[in-house]
Amino acid sequence: MEHYYAVAIDGPSGAGKSTLARALAKELGFVYVDTGAIYRSVGYFARQRGVDPADEAAVEALLPEIRLEMLYGEDGLQHMILNGQDVTREIRLPEISLYASRVSAIPAVRAFLLEMQRGMARTHSVIMDGRDIGTVVLPQADVKLFLTASAEDRARRRFLELEERGTPEPYEKLLEEMRERDRNDTSRAAAPLRAAEDAVVLDTTGNTFQQSFDLLLRTIKEKL
Ligand code: C5P
Repeated sequence: MEHYYAVAIDGPSGAGKSTLARALAKELGFVYVDTGAIYRSVGYFARQRGVDPADEAAVEALLPEIRLEMLYGEDGLQHMILNGQDVTREIRLPEISLYASRVSAIPAVRAFLLEMQRGMARTHSVIMDGRDIGTVVLPQADVKLFLTASAEDRARRRFLELEERGTPEPYEKLLEEMRERDRNDTSRAAAPLRAAEDAVVLDTTGNTFQQSFDLLLRTIKEKL
C-alpha cells in the first residue's frame, strides 16, 4: 500500500501558517489542506441563515443542511463548495472570521467536520493547517509543527494583507480581533489551541517569509 505523508501545522491566526503551508506543499508535491476554510464555510452558512454563532443548539440544528466539498482547481487553490455553491471568496470576508471562531467552539461542529479532514489524509500526502491537526485530527502525523508569533506581529501581517487586497482595516482593530480570537481558540473546552507534545514549536516573530520557509522546510525534511 502506498504510504502518504502527513505534515500538521497548528498555531494561532496570522502566524503565517497558510502562506507557508501552501508554498511548502508546492515544494514537496503534497496537497495543502486549509482546515480554517471548512470552519469558515460553516460560519458563513450560520450567518447566511441569520443564526447566532454562539447559540450551540441552533448551530447544531443547521448541520444536517450542510453539504461541504473541497475541490482543488487548476489554479492549485482549495475551493470550498457549500451546498453546490463556490464560497471560496466569501468566506474570507473579515466578519466571517469571528463567526468561524464561534462555531468552531461547538463540539458537534468539530465532530461533523472531523471525518472530512481525515479522509483527505488517507488518500493524499498532505500539509494540513489548523488548530488541532497534530492533537486531534492527525495525531499520527509524520511531522507536527506549531507556528507562533507575537500578537502585534500577526496583526501587522493581517493589516498588510488587507491593505494589499484593497480592503484596509485599522491596525488597532485588527490587534483587538486577533486577541479576541486567541482567547476564544485557546480557552474553549473543545479541542483548544495548544501544541502537541511531540510538535516542534517555531516562533516566526520578525522573520521574513523566506526565513520562515527555509526553517520549516529544513525541519520537515529532517523529520521525513
Ligand atoms: O485559520 P483561519 O483563521 O481561517 O480559521 C478560522 C477559525 O476557525 C479560527 O479562528 C478557529 O477558531 C477555527 N479553526 C479551528 N480549527 C481548525 C481550523 C480553524 O477551530 N483546525
